[in-house]
This record gives sequence, structure tokens and C-alpha cells, in this order.
Amino acid sequence: MTYPQAILSIGECMVEMAPRADGAYQRSFAGDSFNTAWYLRQVLASDWSIDYCSGAGTDAISAEMLAFIAGAGIGTQNIRPVEGRTVGLYMISLDNGERSFSYWRSHSAAKLLAEDRDFLKAAVSDKALIVFSGITLAILSPEHRATLLEVLVDARAKGARIAFDPNMRLRLWPDAPTMTGAITAAAAVADIVLPSFDEDSQSFGDTTPQETIARYRAGGALTVVVKNGAGRIFAWDSAEGTVEVQPHVVSDVIDTTAAGDSFNAGFLAARLAGKSLGPAIEAGAVLSGKVIGQRGALVDVLG
Ligand code: ADP
Repeated sequence: MTYPQAILSIGECMVEMAPRADGAYQRSFAGDSFNTAWYLRQVLASDWSIDYCSGAGTDAISAEMLAFIAGAGIGTQNIRPVEGRTVGLYMISLDNGERSFSYWRSHSAAKLLAEDRDFLKAAVSDKALIVFSGITLAILSPEHRATLLEVLVDARAKGARIAFDPNMRLRLWPDAPTMTGAITAAAAVADIVLPSFDEDSQSFGDTTPQETIARYRAGGALTVVVKNGAGRIFAWDSAEGTVEVQPHVVSDVIDTTAAGDSFNAGFLAARLAGKSLGPAIEAGAVLSGKVIGQRGALVDVLG
């Protein structure tokens, strides 16, 4: 069966307020799964369609976010309109160059993205690749999390490949066991798992990237790529075996926001283009290397 050249990324995009040198705030939009969709759009040929699946309100800022997403060349028809809610927001504070983040997202429309099973089923249908993350899971109720995983299992059975970045943010979860349980269950419905070693060592107690690979492999993943900041990337694929890649040195790291999200986009785009594991990891590392050399989550990587 030939699958349409279509990708769906599922999660939450938020308003970003970032301080400028003159004291004003610059408004943008970002969020891990959205950042990956945005970078996929930058690097993939135009015969690929990329859609975002989320929730948004029916107010002015929600409309502005939808216009921003559409303006980036990403489809918005799978963003559920949720009456009476709006989009989440985060604000960046700078203290002597150190960034900290404050969030207003507890009642965001995106938290209801899996409320309507039929809407979700329509969103995932006829996609070659579906991307989601631990943050996608964290914003959902336990019941909606189960709906999402059931819909993904069904889409996978129909031929879609599923990519999952565990992206563990403990403060979004009631407790660590709930988080690790949900991450393990989600990874078990994925073909491709894209963890970061610092998070997995902290949350699962892995002492080496090989242990991280072994754990997701035992859960059924067919490809696992363990990112590790500036450190060596370890990966395994059921058909290609194990690979190690040392990312090139980025001498002027400005802002590591979206390093992992852009890595995922570069890696997945290369896999969709038929690249083998090592070169695809190189492509992810090159893309994220460009992203961390500039300020902000969404930066120009083509120029
Ligand atoms: P996350 O943002 O999810 O925590 P990482 O910090 O592991 O992810 O970074 C993802 C990828 O970005 C790495 O695998 C690497 O390719 C690249 N990267 C991140 N930090 C650096 C760095 N300091 N130097 C070079 N590459 C980096």
C-alpha cells in the first residue's frame, strides 16, 4: 500500500512572550510538537503535507495562532475548536542570561484535543507519519490519554508509522510513577522513540543510553534514538542494528530551546527520504546545531 505523503503532529502550541532588550515583550507561538511540525515543514519537500492536531478557542488570540500555523504552511483543519476556552501561554523571564519559564495552560483548549474520538480518528487517518510527545500526554486527562493511544494503535495497524518523544516534564504530572507509566504505555504504541538521555536517566534510572534503548526495544519500538545534548547519540533500529554518532561541536551555543524538537524533525525528514540510520541522525544533529546557534524556538534554518 502506498501511503499519502502526509504527516500529523499532535500536541499543544502556546503563545510565547519573550523579553526584548528594550523591555517590551515579543509575541510568538511555540510548543514541542508544534516546533517539530514547523521544522519538518522547513526541511521537507512541498509534496509532503504537514498538519497539526490540537485544540484552540474561538477568540481572537486563537484565531491569530491558527493564522500563524497556516502561514507556516501547516494544516489547521485538525485543530479542534473548543468554545469557551483559549490557547495556553508562557512567558520567558531572563535573570543574568538564565531563562526561566512561567506557564498559563491549565485550562487551555489543547487539553481537550482528544475529547472527541471521531475527530481524532479523522485527524490520524491516511497519514504516513504521526508524531506526539510526553507533553501531549501530560496535558490530557487519563481517559483522554487512553483514547489517544487507542486511536494511534488503530492508525498504526492501518499502516501509519508513529514517532514519540518522551519529553518528560514532571511538573505537568501528578507524580513520577504516573508519568513513567504513561510514557511507557505511549512508547509501546510507537515505531520510533526519540528520548533524551538526561531525562530518561533521571526518570527511569537508566545508567547508560544502551539501557534506554533496551527498555524501549523491550516495549516494542523498532527504532530508538537516544539524544544526549552535546554528547554522543546512540541509536538502534530493528533492521539496521546499532549506530553511534558524535554531533559536531557547536562553538557558540546561544539558546538550546527546541534542540530536541528540531533534531526529531531533521531525523524524521531524512528517514522519510529513505536515509539510513546514521545519516538520518547526522541530519537531525546538523539541524539542531543550527537551531541552538540562534535565539528562540523557531529560527531560520534554511538561510
Ligand atoms: P532536548 O532538547 O530534547 O533535551 P538534547 O539536549 O539532547 O535534547 O539535544 C538534542 C540534540 O541537539 C542533540 O542530540 C544534539 O544533536 C543537539 N545538541 C544539543 N545541545 C548541543 C550542544 N551543546 N552541542 C552540539 N549539539 C547539541
